[in-house]
Amino acid sequence: MEFRDLKMQYAQHKKEIDQAIQKVLNGTDFIMGSAVKSLEQKLAEYVGVKHCITCANGTDALQLALMVWNIGMGDAVFVPDFTFFSTAEVVSLCGATPIFVDIDPETFNIDAASLENAIVKVQEEGRLNIRAIIAVDLFGQPADFSEIRKIAEKYQLYLLEDGAQGFGGKIGDDMACSFGDIATTSFFPAKPLGCYGDGGALFTDNDTYADVLRSLRVHGKGADKYDNIRIGMNSRLDTLQAAVLGQKLQFFEDEIERCQVVARHYDTALNDVVKTPVVLQKMRSGWAQYTICLKSNEERNFLQRELAAEGIPTAVYYKCPLHLQKAFEMQLYKVVSCENTERISKTCLSLPMHAYLGAEDMDRICNAVRGALGRYNGE
Ligand SMILES: *Cc1c(COP(=O)(O)O)cnc(C)c1O
Repeated sequence: MEFRDLKMQYAQHKKEIDQAIQKVLNGTDFIMGSAVKSLEQKLAEYVGVKHCITCANGTDALQLALMVWNIGMGDAVFVPDFTFFSTAEVVSLCGATPIFVDIDPETFNIDAASLENAIVKVQEEGRLNIRAIIAVDLFGQPADFSEIRKIAEKYQLYLLEDGAQGFGGKIGDDMACSFGDIATTSFFPAKPLGCYGDGGALFTDNDTYADVLRSLRVHGKGADKYDNIRIGMNSRLDTLQAAVLGQKLQFFEDEIERCQVVARHYDTALNDVVKTPVVLQKMRSGWAQYTICLKSNEERNFLQRELAAEGIPTAVYYKCPLHLQKAFEMQLYKVVSCENTERISKTCLSLPMHAYLGAEDMDRICNAVRGALGRYNGE
């Protein structure tokens, strides 16, 4: 059994994907080929924004967004404490300071009250300029953008949506990656829409941001790549990856719908023995992860060991709150407590989740979870 079954996906769509790859091999337009442009159009249309700019990976996408806003030394950027390292790494990489904010214990996404608290404190202390918020669509569910947008406007902060896990999610009829002033995603193979290597993209309705991003991703180019008008990066999406993504996008909605079925199955079979994930009304999760919470760290670790012994892969996203990561030790600037993150990082567990998970496997997983928890509780 696979945690995320890329082999089964490939087996089902081998013919179209192979053809798309072969077409690039025949054309040899490996850098910024025609498949890149056509993918950007399709992705912009899917998300419902004016511009999509692809790049080399989801981390570069975040960094490029911060570069558009000239975020650097002396700036504060607010990030959730519970997310993948990249979200805060790019802030430090730009020379700015990440300010860690606690999460909502139901959705795992940045908590609006904790966020406002942190903003006010940093503002009062007056050592840093408050500049931007990065809200993450963790595990596939969009962050609560109606609340976060209000806070961003009140304090005049840029809002960056880290939709690396959120692609395919929705709030009402609006797609994830349409909520930030700029939004980013990742096409890392295990993400909701994955390619066959590294890839990423940015989304925005703002024409100026889009122009600057197209320049930044190719060495800050002006008229061409040998006319350099700003310091940029080398961060392009390979044509081969764009061709793979172009094919995968065609059955992406199908996959997201199948993930809803898997999630409902888990919910029904497990909600009396573990804390199953909460998806708020009006939201659709893209189910990058299906993450349950146990009562204690011991129970979580016991369950993970027992499932592994039965050949069921699980993962802990994330074991360590970002404010406790060694990399941030030297510049740690913490203004609010992050107790939800601290508790949840000890008790969360992600179960296998993908569109190709069959009823038999789901039953096997749920029975194994129930059996292990029965043994743990001495039943
Ligand atoms: C995966 C991920 C990233 C980074 O994406 P890469 O393509 O691996 O660089 C950033 N943020 C979050 C929340 C992620 O899950």
